[in-house]
Amino acid sequence: MEQPYLSIVIPVYNEESNLAPLMQRLYPAVQGTGKSFEILFTNDGSRDRSLEILRSFVQEYPGVKVIEFNGNFGQHMAILAAFEMSQGEIVITLDADLQNPPEEIPRLVAEIEKGHDVVGTIRQKRQDSLFRRLASRIVNITTNKMTGMRMSDYGCMLRAYHRYVVDNINRCRETTTFIPALAQTFASNPAEIEVAHSERAQGESKYSFYSLIRLNFDLMTGFSVVPLQLFALFGIITAILSLAFALFLFVRRFIVGAEVEGVFTLFAILFFFIGIIILGIGIVGEYVGRIYQEVRKRPRFVVRRTYGFEEQ
Ligand code: UDP
Ligand code: MG
Repeated sequence: MEQPYLSIVIPVYNEESNLAPLMQRLYPAVQGTGKSFEILFTNDGSRDRSLEILRSFVQEYPGVKVIEFNGNFGQHMAILAAFEMSQGEIVITLDADLQNPPEEIPRLVAEIEKGHDVVGTIRQKRQDSLFRRLASRIVNITTNKMTGMRMSDYGCMLRAYHRYVVDNINRCRETTTFIPALAQTFASNPAEIEVAHSERAQGESKYSFYSLIRLNFDLMTGFSVVPLQLFALFGIITAILSLAFALFLFVRRFIVGAEVEGVFTLFAILFFFIGIIILGIGIVGEYVGRIYQEVRKRPRFVVRRTYGFEEQ
């Protein structure tokens, strides 16, 4: 079989009720481009009927391939596994919950064909909670600062990548990552288009409050050492200010005498700095933890079986 032009990559974790409606909209949309294609689903350890449904797709729809993980390794690992097995000249990622309209795929393809190497999307009238939108804003600002690039929406997973960006992503072997940010570091000519955004069709978001915080830490520590540098800078400034204050107290002692009051003010100031120190230890710990994860060199994900790849 010849190499497909488009690879559609979709991570799936407990999405049994979304898969059939997704396929009903996705397949015609992709066929409508008139290009050769493959659709890669990664079943990320779903505990519902998702795998069963995906396997039936392999029988029913030509070009559908399924990678079955041996457990839940997370959305980004699911996408990476599919990236490694993808062959298309253009690779498009998409969520399984129909929050991203598959009908937008031809527009993404057109942007890549214009010469852009990464095409992001901006969610119009985003259908998520205020908290989620706030978290995204922080992610977008920090990611832009770290990569030195301008994109307004890193969270939206409807994105297109040129083959060479995917090849470079495949060369990275880190265990925790955030694919849109990683892609951005390899992009030389990225573009963005606006797309509609819907509410999750069925089921619940797989991201809890805690896992969102984890994701933000991964993003912050995974792509820069700026947090460490800021911390060192803060330490230097504090030391200089403290020295100035000590000198002031020394002089004051000769003029008005020793000071005794304000004990609790001192405590308040002290506790504030203790808090900062604990934060610093935490930040260092994040880096140490990541280094530990990397040096263990455990497999990032385990593929149990694949379906639909045989005929190649
Ligand atoms: N997903 C996954 N593994 C996980 C969590 C999520 O493969 O551990 C998939 C999920 O099935 C969906 C996509 O990643 O296709 C985005 O997940 P979700 O819609 O829950 O995230 P949100 O839209 O709330 O950011
Ligand atoms: Mg979603």
